[in-house]
Amino acid sequence: MESNNMEQKSPESKIPRGGKGAYYIETFGCQMNVRDSETAAGLLETLGYEPSQSKETADLILYNTCCVRDHAEKRVFGNIGALKEQKDENPNLIIGVFGCMMQQKEVAEKLYKRFPFVDMAFGTNLLSRLPSFVENAQSGARTLAIEEDNIQIEDDLPSIRTGKVNAFVNINYGCDNFCTYCIVPYVRGRERSREPQAVVEEVKRLVSEGYSEITLLGQNVNSYGKDLTDASFAELLSLVSGVEGLRRIRFMTSHPKDLSDGMIAAMASLPNVCHHVHLPLQSGSNEILKRMNRRYTREDYLGIVQKLRAAMDDVELTTDIIVGFPGETELDFQDTLDLVERVGFSSAFTFKYSPRKGTRAAVMEDQVPEAIKRERLGRLNALQERKARQNNEPYVGKSGIVHVEDCDTRGEPVCYGKFSNFKMVYFPGQPELVGQYVPVTITGVRKNSLIGQLEDKTHD
Ligand code: SF4
Repeated sequence: MESNNMEQKSPESKIPRGGKGAYYIETFGCQMNVRDSETAAGLLETLGYEPSQSKETADLILYNTCCVRDHAEKRVFGNIGALKEQKDENPNLIIGVFGCMMQQKEVAEKLYKRFPFVDMAFGTNLLSRLPSFVENAQSGARTLAIEEDNIQIEDDLPSIRTGKVNAFVNINYGCDNFCTYCIVPYVRGRERSREPQAVVEEVKRLVSEGYSEITLLGQNVNSYGKDLTDASFAELLSLVSGVEGLRRIRFMTSHPKDLSDGMIAAMASLPNVCHHVHLPLQSGSNEILKRMNRRYTREDYLGIVQKLRAAMDDVELTTDIIVGFPGETELDFQDTLDLVERVGFSSAFTFKYSPRKGTRAAVMEDQVPEAIKRERLGRLNALQERKARQNNEPYVGKSGIVHVEDCDTRGEPVCYGKFSNFKMVYFPGQPELVGQYVPVTITGVRKNSLIGQLEDKTHD
C-alpha cells in the first residue's frame, strides 16, 4: 500500500481558527461525487460546522473535483485561484480540495504547490479523514494526502442528504473495466461492493427519515457482488425491494456486458423497481467498441434491448455516446447512427471524444480531427432530438404517476417530477405537491420531457 501524506505548517498559521463556522461545498462531476459531498457535509457537521448559503460567507470551503470532463483541471485551478482574495481578507478561512482529481498524485501536488493558501488537498479514498484534516487546518497545518490503494469501505459515516425526494445509496465503489478512454479505474480504484445487509440497513434508515425513492449508485452497479460470496445485483434488488415503505428504486450506471437475465427478471417482477435503465452505448461500431475495451458488440447491445422490452413494455432507456473516438471512420459513425435509430433512446448524453492523460486511448494513433468530431456530434444530436420526440409522442393522452420533485413558482406555478420509467413531466401545480405521488395525464411533448395536467385524485 502506498501512501502520500504530507503535513506542513502554513504561513497563515499564526492566526487561530475557531472550530465552528459555516461550510460551503462545491461539487463537480457525477452522482458519486454528489454522494461524497453529502458525506463531507455530514462529517463537517459533526465538527460543529453549519451550512453556509454562499461561498462568500463561508468559513470553510471545500471543492469536490472531477477529472472526467474536458478542461476539468483548468476549471478547478481557476476556481481555487479566485479564492485568494477571500483568503487575504479572511485568513481564518479554511480551503480544501478533494475528489477524483486530487486522487491523481501529480495534479494534487501541483495544486498544493501553486496555491499555498489551500489548507488541505486529499484524494477521494481519504474522505473519512476529513475531520482530522480540518483539525490540522484549525491549528495552522497544511495537509496533502493521497491514498493510492483501495481502502476499506466505511458504512457508517455521517452524511447530510441533499436530495429532496430521492436519496443516493452507494452499493459499490471503483471499477475494474478499464475502458480505454476512462480515468475512473485509476482514480476510484478496483471494484468493491458493500455488504447487502449494510445497503438494506441504509435504505431502511432513509425510509424512516421520509424517503420513499432511492437511487442505488455505482460506476457499474450491475456487476455488484462479484467480489462477495453469494451476492448479485438481482438479489440485491430483491432484498432492497422488500424494505417496507419504499416505493421507487432506481439505479445507475449499468454496463451492457453485466446486464443479466436475472437482473431483467428482477426488474420486471419487483413492483417498486423502476423500469428505466441507463445503459451507456458509447459506440455502435464493433471495431470502435473493441478499441474502447467495452467487451460487448452492437449485436449484444441490441439483444439486451430486445430482452428488456420483451419483459417490460414501458421500459425506457437512456444512454451515453462518444463520437470521434480514435480511429472512428465515417462508416463506424454510421453504425452509431444506425443503432440510435433502431433503439430509440429516451435521452442521450453525447460527447466529442477528448483524451484523458493516463488512459490508453489518449496515446492511440489516428486521433480524429476536432472539426470532424464537431460535425458528427451535430448529426448525432439532430437524430437523437428527433428520436426523443418520437419516443415522447405515444405518451400523449396516457396517464401515469409522477413523484413530484419540485415546483417553480417564479410565474404560474409549474411542478415537475418523473414517471417511474424516468420520463420527466411538467404540469401546473402547487408547491404542496412536492414529495407526493400524483396522477398526471399527458397533454403534450417537449424535446426531452412531457407536459401534463394533474388528475383529480391524488395518491398519498
Ligand atoms: S465501466 Fe468503463 S466508462 Fe464506466 S467507469 Fe468503468 S472504465 Fe469508466
